[in-house]
Amino acid sequence: RTVYVNGDYLPETEAKVSIFDRGFLMADGVYEVTSVLDGKLIDFDGHAVRLQRSLDELDMASPITKDDLLEVHRKLVRLNGIEEGMIYLQITRGAPDDRDFAFPDPETTPQTIVLFTQNKPGLADNPAAKKGMKVISIDDIRWGRRDIKTVQLLYPSMGKMMAKKAGADDAWMVQDGFVTEGTSNNAYIVKGNKIITREKSNDILHGITRAAVLRFAREAQMEVEERNFTIEEARAADEAFITSASTFVMPVVEIDGVPLGDGTPGRVAPRLREIYLDESRKAAV
Ligand code: PLP
Repeated sequence: RTVYVNGDYLPETEAKVSIFDRGFLMADGVYEVTSVLDGKLIDFDGHAVRLQRSLDELDMASPITKDDLLEVHRKLVRLNGIEEGMIYLQITRGAPDDRDFAFPDPETTPQTIVLFTQNKPGLADNPAAKKGMKVISIDDIRWGRRDIKTVQLLYPSMGKMMAKKAGADDAWMVQDGFVTEGTSNNAYIVKGNKIITREKSNDILHGITRAAVLRFAREAQMEVEERNFTIEEARAADEAFITSASTFVMPVVEIDGVPLGDGTPGRVAPRLREIYLDESRKAAV
């Protein structure tokens, strides 16, 4: 695989980052995951805008312009022959001479930028979407700025492992009785014809897929309500689903061992998945 590191395209075995990198020592970095369908980028613009916002919120300069970033994405897709898959992008505050809590001077410590591709043939036709997934609920004990897409992913990883141990696929996190989001996705329930999802705040990541799916839902005259919901309300819902760049729209058929409806994907989530895949393919770059 050819990867990108600080301006160079290299075989992955030759790519190197310093042990003093603040991404490695302090999780001082941000990331984006963009999916690729038909060899094209889905929602590149949304991801580039959110990346800039994450950098701004952390007072981190960007080592690359948006136009160059698009070029790097496209070149990696081409060099690695990706038809379906993902591109992972990470920017960290770089590698100062020594470990220190204070931010280094960006003039002398350039940011580190890394991109690599993940080949996932069959991503759009994922059979898991036909079956639906199972989630458990866990406490949300993450920090208070989940709107910034940082590489601090230890608790979400632990949540994923708790789900696996319980025989489920993912965990929905709950704060003060209300669902925030999944370990790496936004969470939704469906009651009747109404799609309900938590409103945007510092409590959740502002999903790029979320924005697109809510737009497509409204355009299709579906009712959308952005409000908090409890895990009890979710367990009693007609349907549930998640969204993310790598799963698109994925039905949830069981919460904490309680099947939703008849325990198979309902009407709304599969329809939204189809609309999302159709529309975002048309708009892909
Ligand atoms: N919420 C969290 C915590 C995530 O990590 C992600 C994606 O990684 C999402 C939501 C979904 O965001 P997007 O649709 O931009 O992939």
